Amino acid sequence: MTMTGQCLCGAVSYKVEGDLQMTGVCHCKNCQRQAGTAYSVLFAVGDDQIKIDGDLTTYDDTADSGNVVQRHFCPKCGSPIKSSLPTQPGVTFIKAGTLDDTSVLKPQVHFWTGSKQDWVDIDPDVAQIEANPG
Ligand SMILES: [Zn+2]
Ligand SMILES: [Zn+2]
Repeated sequence: MTMTGQCLCGAVSYKVEGDLQMTGVCHCKNCQRQAGTAYSVLFAVGDDQIKIDGDLTTYDDTADSGNVVQRHFCPKCGSPIKSSLPTQPGVTFIKAGTLDDTSVLKPQVHFWTGSKQDWVDIDPDVAQIEANPG
């Protein structure tokens, strides 16, 4: 499977080869702030599965767990593209809303549901984790 995506302005684009390792929804407050919305949808791939064109700016964020989360975004339009965690080397978490075709997404887990916005209803068949296992 080959998937493509890009930021809002198109200065950053990417191509992903192979299978997604995990698709999840993160309800942490920091994702809400960065995305400007209720949650972020992301999928995990190996660093060797993704090729990015264009320059990204990085913000070193600290999660509630205390872990550093490097948030990479387009410096021109601000679209979040990917996150990486020094505690999980070799894995890239792509912000799934940047995919050209989002029909492949099927979230298997919701993280940080303790800070979920009240109006968001989660499918009871999908796993929920109140905090982050990491
Ligand atoms: Zn952009
Ligand atoms: Zn988050």
